[in-house]
Amino acid sequence: MTGRTSVGIVGAGIVGAALGRALAISRPDVEVTILEKEDSAARHQTGHNSGVVHAGLYYTPGSLKATLCQRGRHRLRDFCLERGLPYDEVGKVVVATGPDAEERLHAVREKAVANGVEGLELLDPVAALREREPHARGQKALLSPRTAITDYAQVTEAFLADVRSSGGDVLFGHEVVRVEQAGHRVRVAGSWGERTFDRLVSCGGLQSDRVARAAGVAPQVRIIPFRGRYYHLSDPTQVSLRGLVYPAPDPRYPFLGVHVTRHVDGNISLGPNAVLSLDREGYQRFSVDPGDTRDTLAWPGFWRMASRHWRVGLREMALTASKRMFLAAVEELFAGMSDLADDIVPIESGIRAQAIDRRGVLHDDFHVEQHGPLVLVLNAPSPAATSSMAIAEHLMERHLAA
Ligand SMILES: Cc1cc2nc3c(=O)[nH]c(=O)nc-3n(C[C@H](O)[C@H](O)[C@H](O)COP(=O)(O)OP(=O)(O)OC[C@H]3O[C@@H](n4cnc5c(N)ncnc54)[C@H](O)[C@@H]3O)c2cc1C
Repeated sequence: MTGRTSVGIVGAGIVGAALGRALAISRPDVEVTILEKEDSAARHQTGHNSGVVHAGLYYTPGSLKATLCQRGRHRLRDFCLERGLPYDEVGKVVVATGPDAEERLHAVREKAVANGVEGLELLDPVAALREREPHARGQKALLSPRTAITDYAQVTEAFLADVRSSGGDVLFGHEVVRVEQAGHRVRVAGSWGERTFDRLVSCGGLQSDRVARAAGVAPQVRIIPFRGRYYHLSDPTQVSLRGLVYPAPDPRYPFLGVHVTRHVDGNISLGPNAVLSLDREGYQRFSVDPGDTRDTLAWPGFWRMASRHWRVGLREMALTASKRMFLAAVEELFAGMSDLADDIVPIESGIRAQAIDRRGVLHDDFHVEQHGPLVLVLNAPSPAATSSMAIAEHLMERHLAA
């Protein structure tokens, strides 16, 4: 007996790793063990994202996303600078193009101001936008100079290095298949054996609803996976791009729309769109997992969502099927891409975990539930990578207090 509280964490994505690090460093009374089913970290959403450190423009003021994104960005910036990890404040322009774009841009600005985003500037007249991003289309744009880029897989590795150096364990190849409460404790098991913890926190990303169900909890949401296709420019020097160019998003959807992103390695990506995936963890275009497909089709909320949003769904599918249509969509935002079609090549997709309830409502905010010694992170979509260090603090304050 060590007299310490043992905390098990399911998942070595950025959320589980940030929580493990925060506990291992600041809580000497806690013994941390991270259980990850893959043989390395950041293999799913964390390693397949846009690498953007969001400044908090879009989120409903007062929501967890709004508060934790702001706090998380500051924490992440300090951490990256202190550890020599990539962090570049390249800035983002959100441009008004297409119908209703000016109203959408206005709505983004109102939320951003309410969320206290620093340094916002309206680029109007259009010459100011072209000076900043020569390829950007649109008549008006909102500049967020503090929006940055990083490499979230590297950040996750650095978090895990801190877990180990502070005495915690990171166990790869440990899929948690069964979870049961044993008195005030939680027993987890898989083909590797079993372990018992005083507390268990699930940060299972695309599998978070399944970990909940394995623990006998019936979550109000199901994870529906959405695949996002990305392309990149084989020669990024062909394009002048200072930072990030995004459309003003459609407020009915949690996705931000196809955008143009500069990455810390100098590459430039286009994407992602968002189409239903029939495989939660299959990154090839036509991957199908029978169990994942059954789970999606058996969820009444999926059909309700599909009947409401089928038009947008068809458009997004067309973008996946046709490179020409994909580039035409980018072209609405960023000029010159169709001319470079031969130098634009597909890269690995990302798959987002989208929580959808029985009524077909797409859940937007971060969502955590506690059931005795079990804490379930049931929704951690974008900007959860940006917010990861603040999500860890939130979990510690609200769910794992000493
Ligand atoms: C295409 C795309 C673009 C995005 N762009 C951005 C962006 O630019 N900025 C931003 O802030 N956010 C972005 N996001 C969102 C961000 O990547 C996620 O919110 C974040 O990575 C979630 O981290 P996580 O640790 O919760 O999940 P994950 O990274 O998915 O990690 C979950 C881990 O749990 C493990 N696991 C699952 N089940 C089990 C089990 N039973 N036993 C053991 N281990 C298990 C998995 O193997 C995985 O390693 C994007 C996401 C996608 C997909």
